[in-house]
Amino acid sequence: MAFVFPARPQPAVAVSGQQTLFPVNRIYCVGKNYAAHIREMGSEASRDSVCFFLKPADAIVTDGHMPYPPGTGNLHFEGELVIAIGKGGANIPAGEALQHVFGYAAGLDMTRRDLQLAAAKVGHPWDTGKAFDCSAPISPIVPVAECGHFHHGSLKLRVNGELRQDADFSDLIWKNHEVISELSKLYTLQAGDLIFTGTPAGVGPVVAGDRIELSIDRLCKLSVAITPP
Ligand code: MN
Repeated sequence: MAFVFPARPQPAVAVSGQQTLFPVNRIYCVGKNYAAHIREMGSEASRDSVCFFLKPADAIVTDGHMPYPPGTGNLHFEGELVIAIGKGGANIPAGEALQHVFGYAAGLDMTRRDLQLAAAKVGHPWDTGKAFDCSAPISPIVPVAECGHFHHGSLKLRVNGELRQDADFSDLIWKNHEVISELSKLYTLQAGDLIFTGTPAGVGPVVAGDRIELSIDRLCKLSVAITPP
């Protein structure tokens, strides 16, 4: 049977060095995964449970241009390592979790901080603050065969050339293999899922005209211009 109107195109991310695309299924995100960032947001680190939230797959931005979104006066950058899942599964043991990784990318969990904080204050979900159009700029994905895994490694984020975030993945509270395992207890992971692994300290606002550059060792640099609405 035909669709009643044309289906939207499949969101996809380039694979570095290949003429192929990674088709995006779901975008999972981890919150509260670096102690220094949790402190700057006014709470304390915990390993009681992982903080997960989602963004829609069509929130990815791959052309380096993010229009300033509506409904906010406090758009924040959050530079993050992104895991690209290549093999799905449920109840994946932590010891086997990295076998499910296709590759890694640099990503921005762009956040309407005013809406997120207002929602949290009254016990509402984070969606309007986190899961909006163009809220997930991402670099091409580097296959794990080329970049290896990220037990440690440097993340540096600059705004208009000024260093704003500078961290090492060894400081992650929930390591990548633990994140995959914990997530797979709650959702059946699929090839094509992306997992944004959380941001270190130093988050802050950007405005139209700013340029964000996210550099992660062994990955493609992500450069994003914030454009007028
Ligand atoms: Mn984040």
